[in-house]
Amino acid sequence: MNAKLVSTSALAIGFALLAGCTSKTENLPPAEAPTPPPAASADSGPTVADARAFLERAEAELAQMSKDVSPVFWEQATNISDETNAAAADAGARATKLSVSLANESKAYNDVDLPADLARKMERLRSGVTIPAPSTDGAAEELSQITTGLEATYGTGTFNYKGEELNLDQLSTIIETSRDPAELKAVWEGWRTISPPMKDDYARMVEIANDGAIELGYDNLKTMWLSNYDMPPEEMSAEVERLWQQVSPLYKELHCYVRAELNAEYGDEVQAATGPIRADLLGNMWAQSWSGIYPIVEPEGLPGQGFDLTEELVEKGYDPIKMVETGEAFFTSLGFEKLPETFWERSMIVRPPAPREVVCHASAWDLDDEEDVRIKMCTEVNAEDFYTVHHELGHNFYQRAYKDQDYLYKNGAHDGFHEAIGDFVGLSITPIYLEQIGLIDESQIPGPDSDIPLLMNTALDKIAFLPFALTVDNWRWDVLDGTTAPEDYNTAWWERRTQYQGIMPPGPRPADAFDPGAKYHIPGNTPYLRYFLSFVMQFQFHKAACEQAGWEGPLHRCSIYDNKEVGSRFKAMLEMGASEPWPDVLETFTGTREMDGSAMVEYFDPLTAWLKEENQGRACGWE
Ligand SMILES: [Zn+2]
Repeated sequence: MNAKLVSTSALAIGFALLAGCTSKTENLPPAEAPTPPPAASADSGPTVADARAFLERAEAELAQMSKDVSPVFWEQATNISDETNAAAADAGARATKLSVSLANESKAYNDVDLPADLARKMERLRSGVTIPAPSTDGAAEELSQITTGLEATYGTGTFNYKGEELNLDQLSTIIETSRDPAELKAVWEGWRTISPPMKDDYARMVEIANDGAIELGYDNLKTMWLSNYDMPPEEMSAEVERLWQQVSPLYKELHCYVRAELNAEYGDEVQAATGPIRADLLGNMWAQSWSGIYPIVEPEGLPGQGFDLTEELVEKGYDPIKMVETGEAFFTSLGFEKLPETFWERSMIVRPPAPREVVCHASAWDLDDEEDVRIKMCTEVNAEDFYTVHHELGHNFYQRAYKDQDYLYKNGAHDGFHEAIGDFVGLSITPIYLEQIGLIDESQIPGPDSDIPLLMNTALDKIAFLPFALTVDNWRWDVLDGTTAPEDYNTAWWERRTQYQGIMPPGPRPADAFDPGAKYHIPGNTPYLRYFLSFVMQFQFHKAACEQAGWEGPLHRCSIYDNKEVGSRFKAMLEMGASEPWPDVLETFTGTREMDGSAMVEYFDPLTAWLKEENQGRACGWE
């Protein structure tokens, strides 16, 4: 359920960047002609007061730009056409120009000894653009045209299968439900025919954006992205590696077990008992979530999960609106205020009728940085979208919580926080919670002997995802710092996919393949590290919340629904936005200053023990 969740929300943030979900600075519009920096001479440089005045002006201009361009991006995402694409490209160029020009202006204050608050704002101003353009003539326009074009190519991609033109949703459904290896291979390869035309544009975009990053004082765009975590870039990459080492043993056990089950299902010809797993057999277009193949890997000889959430939602007459209302009700049960009326009037909750084309990838928006929050989803009544709704609303409630911060602080403590909020709430969607809200009966609440099936289902989403998330940005970092040249894009992609995930394509890839482009966040330019961090941190939040609630049972059965005390501490963390370094923000809710994978390990402990038992005698790994 999360796979999509993730990809889902990705857009959220992809656009968010643009639309104000996450990185504010992306959208800044140019205001009036930039005021020249204060004259600096050898003995009288700019003062703290000058810096303060500059930041006030920068924040005002950025806020205005965000308000101006967000509706244009919203229009493009909810009604794709040549006109809306052109308008979005134009708005994107204006926004990039403003943010780049302000970031450049900020350099005039490099030598001023600033109080922490102002220094923090300067830093955020500089590193806040996701895809910067250099200030050379026409660069922002070219960059914006490329990014809008990539987004549109992805959003409108289709593949003709058996005489029918199928979009990503339809192709994904086949990958999730078909058990015919030939069909899976055809559809998997088919979706990847949309991306070869993106490759040259992508390479050009990397060039321009790197020039932009260099102009702002970074080595390249990779170090610029990694500078957003309140520590030096190389320390942050070491943190990521440390977290992966904490959780990767879980993945290796899961991989070993799932490969054996697929081997039993399909036979040696299709899936060998050793080596990497065929990517098209895992029930998801990108093999990032494996819950689609739960029926194949369902633990035998144990009672099932007791109920099927999708069936219950349908049976109880849920429609997309009721799904969103149910998500909202979880947040209000924690003490958050209800969503504004405009949310319901302006959100896109279901796919509009043809011929209108939209970007269906779910996302959350904040159009005015105050009250105008919305989601954009093509919601279906099923379990996956039930979780996705909570994920997207997490963004909206976060945005509402920090709306009174200064403009440059209207953001997550880091981008992993923004992604983790809704998923953390989703971890409280337990059988007991579902019974409390009347979705299942008391008799359907599974007993302790159903723990393994329940945890298996969650692991197929949450654990399977971890190495995928690492792969996406590991690949991109090497592209951005020049380690991987355009002619090696696809080879490098599969090297990493095999190294981290232990998967391989169903057949040889064509010479012109650009498989990274068939995953939204690459053409959509959404940094992906945030999802890895969020998957680790949501369990850390969950454990801290359950401890605050005095919960003593296993972590996966804990729900904080309706707990106002936990809610008020949670809300306090969200209200801080990006106003303090993230370790301080983390500490207010969890009492610790470090990201930590041990809560995730503890959550899955019973499953890990069971998997080790099952895997005895198997040659695990894929080297
Ligand atoms: Zn998201």
